[in-house]
Amino acid sequence: ESATVDIRNSIGSIPDYPKPGIIFRDITPLLQNPDAFRLTINTLKQRYAEQGITQIAAVEARGFIFGSALAYAMGCGVTLLRKPGKLPGKVTRQNYELEYGSDELQMHENALTENDRVLIVDDLLATGGTVIAASQLIKSSGADVVEAAFVVSLPELGGEDKLQQAGVACYTLCQF
Ligand code: 5GP
Repeated sequence: ESATVDIRNSIGSIPDYPKPGIIFRDITPLLQNPDAFRLTINTLKQRYAEQGITQIAAVEARGFIFGSALAYAMGCGVTLLRKPGKLPGKVTRQNYELEYGSDELQMHENALTENDRVLIVDDLLATGGTVIAASQLIKSSGADVVEAAFVVSLPELGGEDKLQQAGVACYTLCQF
């Protein structure tokens, strides 16, 4: 493993995206850096290798990238948590609030059982609304949520506190 690689330094910062005053934390430079990408996946793999994880629940869309690579490395499955209208089978749905309006995550209704131990993976934790919805979908299937893992978190937006209140453990590789 290249010790000189720093995951945090491989995250880009784009001012005024998607709107004025917001700094968007961009994971595309990390993905393009093979050492940083491998270090990201290997760090997560080390943390979760002995936890009996059966499925990684990957959040559309950037969570698919990290979640799939980690599942391959760990030898577990991938469960997709998708935006409305994307999954072809019968779905369970969970609404969540955004700053303006609301959105919804969906999961195939037969995707998980009470025997599953699930790790949620997404690229970034902001207010926590998305991952709370994800954990509600997973728990409603009877499966256990072991933890939620992120490459980046933005602690000022309160997501870590919200997850703690909801009883969902959380792990992040870097903060801004
Ligand atoms: P939350 O629901 O925690 O407020 O927002 C997290 C979700 O929005 C994640 O799915 C994440 O991909 C996306 N998101 C919000 N802000 C950013 C950002 O600055 N950078 C990236 N890469 N994703 C963001």
